[in-house]
Amino acid sequence: MSDQDFREFDPENSNGTDISDEVIEEVTNGSGHNSSETNDENKEKKPTEFCYMCRRPDTICGPLIKMAPGMGVCSDCMQKTFDSMGNFGFGGGDNSKSNVDMSKMPNISFLNLGNLFGEGPKVKNAHGSSTAKQDEKRPEPAIDINNIIPPHKIKEKLDEYVVGQDYAKKVMSVAVYNHYKRVATGTMDDIEIEKSNMLMLGPTGSGKTYLVRTLAKLLDVPLAITDATSLTEAGYIGDDIESVVSKLLAAAGNDVERCQQGIIFIDEIDKLAKKKNTNQRDVSGESVQQGMLKLLEGADVEVPIGASSKNAMVPTTTINTRNILFICGGAFPAMDEIIKARLNKHSSMGFMADLKDKYDDDKNILQKVTVEDLREFGMIPEFIGRLPIVFATEMLDEDMLVRILREPKNAIIKQYAKLLELDEVKLEFEDEALHAIARKALDKKLGARGLRSIIEEFMLDIMYEIPKDDNIGQVIITEDYIEKKGGPRILVRTAGMIPEKAAAN
Ligand code: ADP
Repeated sequence: MSDQDFREFDPENSNGTDISDEVIEEVTNGSGHNSSETNDENKEKKPTEFCYMCRRPDTICGPLIKMAPGMGVCSDCMQKTFDSMGNFGFGGGDNSKSNVDMSKMPNISFLNLGNLFGEGPKVKNAHGSSTAKQDEKRPEPAIDINNIIPPHKIKEKLDEYVVGQDYAKKVMSVAVYNHYKRVATGTMDDIEIEKSNMLMLGPTGSGKTYLVRTLAKLLDVPLAITDATSLTEAGYIGDDIESVVSKLLAAAGNDVERCQQGIIFIDEIDKLAKKKNTNQRDVSGESVQQGMLKLLEGADVEVPIGASSKNAMVPTTTINTRNILFICGGAFPAMDEIIKARLNKHSSMGFMADLKDKYDDDKNILQKVTVEDLREFGMIPEFIGRLPIVFATEMLDEDMLVRILREPKNAIIKQYAKLLELDEVKLEFEDEALHAIARKALDKKLGARGLRSIIEEFMLDIMYEIPKDDNIGQVIITEDYIEKKGGPRILVRTAGMIPEKAAAN
């Protein structure tokens, strides 16, 4: 049906000029001029469903998009609706596009419905750009998932951004390598090889989220990060478990294929532990673990497109989660006690008995976690079974924090140096100053997350003062400045860079 035809066809009047007589006969079953005999005949032939707008049967216009029970709209009518909205100026003037750039309106995007039914040119995202065009624009990923590089190379790439955490990086590199190798070669179909879903334990601020983020960026796959605490069993207040998949679809620009190769990171997974001594229904803990089982394993999930929750007005699509890599992370507080208790139980008998406090000082005791410990903590066995790769990140010490400040490609002090460079001022941190910052972060017990806020506090005065004076050529952050016993060293731009004035505070 052409555009012109569509406009001429009046949905209220089924004798519209558009549809052939044969179809009208079929559609207007019993509209006054048919004999009862033909009625009976037509009843047999009667198509199952009609488009709510143009009244055409689904045998003519293809599968209907369900808006509500008993109410479906054909893809032509739906597309026309979107297009006509585009004509009202939402689309940034380019009305030739079949869909609309609603970038000015948050959380709303319009689709080319042809994509969903596999018709027409294969347009891959909600903004209507073709795959070829999109691929042209997207920079080359550091790691090509269709031709995946070996684990040691993946780790090398991770090393550029993530300091330390060698074991975690190694485990993740191997898991990702195996996972995408299976996805790319399709061997998951022949032999049912288990998915490489991961469970990552580790203290807060030790880089769990950062590792996953970096990995997704290197692989150029979409990533959705969700907090397990916001999830509840379907039907209760909170996000449905399936909402994690719609987040991923949104991150993939509504491209179903890309979404199906993405990564979902569920943080704070320890909050889903089974509550002890409770008779109430645990809608946000154990039930969520139960609800996630199918998703982790691989299931078809119906998710809304361009919205976070299903409702009558939002079209839905089906996503298969089989190739989606799930990574769950959590700090698992009190897990160290469980591990210690287990280790002490094993080692406190006989002549070789260890001292009871042997493990008290072990900062990385989480790395000794076993499936038993996770069960003891309150994770259900079926859930743990679907996360076969379990590992822990290390607790960051002072030296590691200093390295985090200094080494990564986008290290915080490099960022500040770049900012000051724009004012033609050189920024330097004395070694001892970096250690003082690291010690402050350790005191806050926020891991590396505390570093930025500490530096920001000290850089505020500097960033404020420097643009005032064109003579300033270099700023050196000293330990005294961080310890609040003095000021930074400030050197003037003139020959010799002689220290001139101290303190910006
Ligand atoms: P977690 O998820 O373990 O609580 P995050 O991954 O959110 O911690 O870490 C917070 C921030 O600290 C990150 O955004 C990153 O900038 C920094 N960070 C943490 N660990 C590292 C690391 N090993 N290397 C480099 N930066 C890190």
